[in-house]
Amino acid sequence: MVSLKEQTTDGDIVYDSDELCVNNEPLNKVIVATAGSANGKGRSQKAQCCIYCEKLDYKLHKHLEQQHSNEIEVAKILNMPKRSKERRRAWAAITAKGNNLHNTKVKEKGMGILIPKYRQSKEQDRKKYLSCEFCRMLIISTDLYKHHRSCVSKPDGVNSDAPVKISKLLEACASTEKA
Ligand SMILES: [Zn+2]
Ligand SMILES: [Zn+2]
Repeated sequence: MVSLKEQTTDGDIVYDSDELCVNNEPLNKVIVATAGSANGKGRSQKAQCCIYCEKLDYKLHKHLEQQHSNEIEVAKILNMPKRSKERRRAWAAITAKGNNLHNTKVKEKGMGILIPKYRQSKEQDRKKYLSCEFCRMLIISTDLYKHHRSCVSKPDGVNSDAPVKISKLLEACASTEKA
């Protein structure tokens, strides 16, 4: 059970206690978070999931720094040189882990809001999203090629020539594991 104790809003989506509401209607299916804001202007803030307490926060780095600096992984990151590639990679990895944990639980429950790597402005069919083979973040399949060029979890020198095919295979494996 993902606890969403602090009320946060993501566009028209309101996370309040254990209730998820969209436009005041309880949410009973799986949707993917979008970037549209409640007033239709600009982009909403992106809520991301903390790997340690499973809370959603708009400023996850700050949250990890303030609440979990005693965790080895966070302490290590805080010791890395600021603005270094190493530090950027480590933050991205810990963010991906939290979001992926959240997404796994949403899928298991069959309702909730999936956190994608890049939010689209309008709601898209969930089936269009695939997991990157390296960072496992949810990415709309047409963006996978582009994402691979900048994926911080992709080891240097490694290339995937069929990201969509591989991600679809991963998805198929994950669903047979559960069954
Ligand atoms: Zn936390
Ligand atoms: Zn990736």
